[in-house]
This record gives sequence, C-alpha cells and structure tokens, in this order.
Amino acid sequence: MKRFLLVSLSSAFALTLQAESVKSLSDFQAAAEKAKAVLVIPEWPKTPIEVQGEVNTAIAKANAALDLIGKQDLAKASFQSTVVALDNIQNEAQIAVAKAVVIQQTNQDPAMREAAEKSVKVFQDWAVGVDYREDVYKAVKAFADTKPKLEGEDALLLEHALRDYRRAGLALPPDKRAEVEKLRKELAQLETDFQANIVAVKAPVVFTKAELEGVPETILESPGVKTGDDSYTLLANVTFHYNTVQETAKKEETRKHLYQVRFNLAREKNVPLLNNILTHRNQIALKLGYKSWDDFQTEIKMAKSGAAARTFINDLVAGLQPKFDAEVAELRKLKVAQTKDSNAQINKWDWRYFQNELKKDQYTVDTDALRVYFPFQRTLDGMFNIYQNIFGLKFTKILAPQKWVDDLQLYVVADASSGEPLGMFYLDMFPRDGKFNHFAQFGIVPGKLLTDGKYQRPTVALVCNFPPPTKDKPSLLSHSDVETLFHEFGHALHSILTRAKYVRFAGTNVPADFVEAPSQMLQNWVWEKKVLDTFAADYRDPSKKIPAEMITKMKEAKLATVGVYYRRQFTFADVDLTLHDVHPEGEPYDSVALSNPIFAKDFFPVDNTAFVAFFGHLAGYDAGYYGYAWADAIAADMATVFEKSPNGYFDKSAGMKLRQEIYAPGGSREVDISIRNFLGRDRSIQPYLKTLGIETPAKAGSAPPAESNPGAAPPQPPKP
Ligand SMILES: [Zn+2]
Repeated sequence: MKRFLLVSLSSAFALTLQAESVKSLSDFQAAAEKAKAVLVIPEWPKTPIEVQGEVNTAIAKANAALDLIGKQDLAKASFQSTVVALDNIQNEAQIAVAKAVVIQQTNQDPAMREAAEKSVKVFQDWAVGVDYREDVYKAVKAFADTKPKLEGEDALLLEHALRDYRRAGLALPPDKRAEVEKLRKELAQLETDFQANIVAVKAPVVFTKAELEGVPETILESPGVKTGDDSYTLLANVTFHYNTVQETAKKEETRKHLYQVRFNLAREKNVPLLNNILTHRNQIALKLGYKSWDDFQTEIKMAKSGAAARTFINDLVAGLQPKFDAEVAELRKLKVAQTKDSNAQINKWDWRYFQNELKKDQYTVDTDALRVYFPFQRTLDGMFNIYQNIFGLKFTKILAPQKWVDDLQLYVVADASSGEPLGMFYLDMFPRDGKFNHFAQFGIVPGKLLTDGKYQRPTVALVCNFPPPTKDKPSLLSHSDVETLFHEFGHALHSILTRAKYVRFAGTNVPADFVEAPSQMLQNWVWEKKVLDTFAADYRDPSKKIPAEMITKMKEAKLATVGVYYRRQFTFADVDLTLHDVHPEGEPYDSVALSNPIFAKDFFPVDNTAFVAFFGHLAGYDAGYYGYAWADAIAADMATVFEKSPNGYFDKSAGMKLRQEIYAPGGSREVDISIRNFLGRDRSIQPYLKTLGIETPAKAGSAPPAESNPGAAPPQPPKP
C-alpha cells in the first residue's frame, strides 16, 4: 500500500514536471479527425475484479453477437451480416483479451496478474468453441452459397472463414465431424502431457573434478552443483549446464556421457506418447481430406504444402553442404592436433567444444567491451532516427494517463509528410519481479476499418528486459540486445503501419512462416558500421565510435560457425517434416526409427538415442520447424533491396516500399504477391546462402520459382 502511494506520488511529480513540454493525445486529435483515423489510449482496468469483468463482458457481448449471426434469416445472409460481423466481434473481443495479456505479463501487482491469467484462460477456452458454432457456420455457408462476387481482401475474408470451418471439420457429415472433434481433444491432451514430461524430466549426472577439466569454476561453484568432496552434479536437462560442458569439458568421455543422457531424456514416457500423437495427427489429416499432417499444417502458411517445405529444406541442405563440410574439416584439424590421432572424427558431442576452441584461438572478441557504445537512451533514439527516416515517420512522446510502471513511455507514430496519426506504442523496457522475462511486441488495439468508415489505428506494447541502469552507469546494452531492439521494434511497425480493412489481416496477422522475416531483415542494420556510427558512441566519451575491427571480427566469428548451426537447424526441420509426412492409416509409428537416420546425417551416427522424446517443438510447432529457415531466407532476400539501393540501409525509397508493400497490406493479400512487389522479382534463396558464406551458387539454390522456393518464420530457434 505504501509502495503504491509512493508510485502515485512520483507519477504526479513527473506529470507536473513534464506537463509543459510533453504532448498529449489531444494534440493529435485534429489530424486524426482529418485522416478519418480513430486514436484512443486504452482504458486499463484497475482492480482484479475489473480485469475479469472486462473479459467476461467481452465474451458475453460476443456471444450475443454470434447469436444474432446464427439467428438471421439465411435467405438474406450478407457479407456484412456474416463474415464482417465475425470480424467486428473479433475486434472487440481481441482488445479485451489483449489488455488482459499485457496485464498478466507486466502488472506489478500479483493479484492483477493472477486475475488476468485466469481471464486469458477463460477467453481461450471460449474462443475454441466459437469455431464449432454450427448456427454461425450455417449463416456463413448460406452467404457463400450465393456465390457472391467479392474482390481482394473481401474475397480473402470469406475464403479464410470457410477454410477455418473446413479445417475444424464443420464441412464433414456429423458422425465424421464428431470423430475429428474427439481426436482433436485427445490430441490436445497428449500434447500437453508430452510437454509436461519434457519440463518435468530431471537427469542429474555426477562427475569428478578431473572429469570436468576445462569447465569454468563459476558453474562448478554455483549452488547445487558441488555435491561432495569430489563430486559435481550437473543436470543433463538444463540446457545451460549441458551447453557449458559440451563447450568446455576437455575430456571427450565426459561430453559423450552427458550427450547420451540428454539425448535419452523423457524417452520412456515420451516415445510412446509421441507415436500416439503422430497417429492422432495422421488420422485427423486423413479424415479432413489431407494426405498428411504436414499438408494440413502448411496449408495456411506460405509453404502451402509439406512437399514445398521439404523441397526448400532439401535445397538448403544441398547448398550448405560444402560450407558445412569445410567447417567440420577445420574442427577435425583441431581435434587431430589435440588428440594426436590422425583418424579422429568430429562427433555430435565434439562440435561445440572444438567450435569454442576455434573461437578462442582465432576470433576472440570481447563482446562485453562493446556495451559502453550502447547506452540505452542513445541507442533507442538512434534506432528511432533510422526508422523515422527510412519509413517516413515521426514518433512523438505523449503523456500516458495510466501507467503500469513508473518509467512506462507512450508514443504516437505519425506519417512525417501528411501528419496522419498511424498508431501508438508503449515502451516497458526494464526487468522487474513478476514481469514477462523475454522480449516481445504485444498487440493491444488492432488495425481495423470500422463500420462508420473511420479507421481504428493500432496500439501496441514493446515489453523488453534490457539491463537496468545502476548507481554509477546508465543502462548499457550488448550488441545482441541492440539486435533484439531493432527486431522487436520491427514487429511494432508491422502492426502500426497496417492498412488492412479487417482485424483478421491487420499488422502481423500474416502466415506464420513469414511473420518473422521483416524483423529478421532489420537485424542486419546493427551489423553495419555506418548504421552504428549514427548513434553508437562510448557513453564516457561520445567522440569514441566502435572500432571497425571489432565489427569485422564479430562477423567473421559468426560466419565461421554458421554452417554447423544451420545444418543442425535443417536436421531438426527434416525430422519434423519426416514424422509428419504421408503415413499409411492404421500402421503404428516408430518415431525413433523414423528420426534417428536423419539425426545421423549431419554428424556421425549415434546409437541408442531418442532425441525426439525431448524435442519440444514437436508439440506446438509441429510441421513448422522449417519456418525458421524459411523466414531467414526471405529476410536475406528482402535485405538485398536495401543493399542495392543508393543509400543502402538508409534508403528511404526502399523503406517506403517496405512500408507500402509489406507492412501496410499485412495479410490482406497473398504474402507472395507482397514479397514479389517489394523485391521487384521472384524470390531466391541465393542471398540467404550468401549470408551463410556460400558464394558459389549451388545448383539446387538457383532461384527456383516462388512456389517451390518457399521462404520461412516463427519464434526463437530451438535449444537442442
Ligand atoms: Zn520476432
């Protein structure tokens, strides 16, 4: 209570101090009016009861609106009374739940977070049922049966609505539909169990000090590790423990032992579970009329078919192989020298260790020393300048009438030439107790053309965890933090710059294997000295810029290991697609037998492991792992538009093109069209291979037609 008082006092103080200089939303209302834009700062619920009340009210309103759609005279069903009505419902419901999500992830009061978490769960359970409302489906179907002449985004809206119903099984006869529903419910439970087993598994492995030669003292002395006079307990299930041992333990036996434990984690429980999951997925796909689960999953992505995803990965493997082989040969040289065994080979438990040796020997970069060049505020302003400039925007800080944390900031984004307000973003940048602990952009208000003809401009929140300032130093970011900032802010722009008419297609509502691509592309900016020099400077003496050789060295280090990194990524994608490929109905699955030969393709085969049991992406990103590489490939391809422009990464015409062809349309047209318009040509995987250090075009990578040369997309790469 006392704390709350303090917070309010300091807010009030800040308010009076800033009142003179800081603008408020009202300063933008005239421009918004002129542009027929609706710009509203969200009202935030203040108590747990209000949080739950808001979501419950939204659900009740949505149910009433759904009833109206279902009860209408089917003979008069129209575009407005069916699919547009559904989009209107989604708009209101989404704003309510999005606020609850932000509260859940950021609020300082545990009771608020708890109430929000409960509400989000209630909402999710409710949302699943919406797809199964037969009455609503009948209305949409009745309208579709009139064979309406729709165009562009309107046509797509109807198409997607019907597609969702078909995928949920509503187009099937009732008995078959019931089977699909039953299988889906069972599948959801099996997937939950699979993930729970991965989280729950613990595999302590005890070593002596001698066995752990090379492993840093910091980890050996950390709590829980030293468990006896000469015994150290490491957990094979803890990625940080595993990676540290793999990178630093000199004794091969130690690395091998831990490897074998890790690659058998959760095996007893999860292998039969996974086989059952695969059976369920295959049955669902077949009952819905697909050849395989990967066809079902990719239908709504850019790839559109399992075969296209497969071709993409195969092409990349072929293109990457020489680079991979060359990297492994380098690592082998180190092993031969160290073991004096001329036949030494690089095994799965060796590559991390020798990569680390290679980096220590040849590419020493003290990445921590770079932090002095990236004080938080200067970096943020620097990024703002670049994005404002290339995208023709103006960001203005305004007063946030309600704050969930004292240092919260709110900005209005406007078009620089017309002054049209385009949206708003909150910045919540530093860690604290109970806060979401990664970096993400959360949508709050989506873009949407309202029924009165005005456009609802989006509001988003950027929630990050940069190192906080200390008594004697400002917040100093690492280079990788700066990369993350450029990436996440890219998502914010994707949301805010939307012009899509419907929530369904607004902002980042694009296929999952594309959504990361624009932001991945923007990461390139922070690897260019010219870009960094516009803002990065030693906070103690701003005349000091980043030494060029540091950037060069970091690039070299990245390039020296990228072949192994991506080859392994492609292995995971290959395993994922293989498990979800065509499979005869009724034939039992043996996920280990299907996957182990693929795991054996990058490094030497390893007997008696079952990594699929610990591969969490198989429940949630199933038949989607290829998407990481797909998005990376498109990102590299799109970056060439800037790289070939007169002003490179500062090029305003390339930036405006990105804004108009990628950000503005969002998902309102086929993403393939947007990308082609932006590139001015078909897609190619050559630029991507080039970023992997492959200069000689491999025949497999020679700019295949867009359809067979898919591109990629979701969240962070895996831990395996
Ligand atoms: Zn992202």
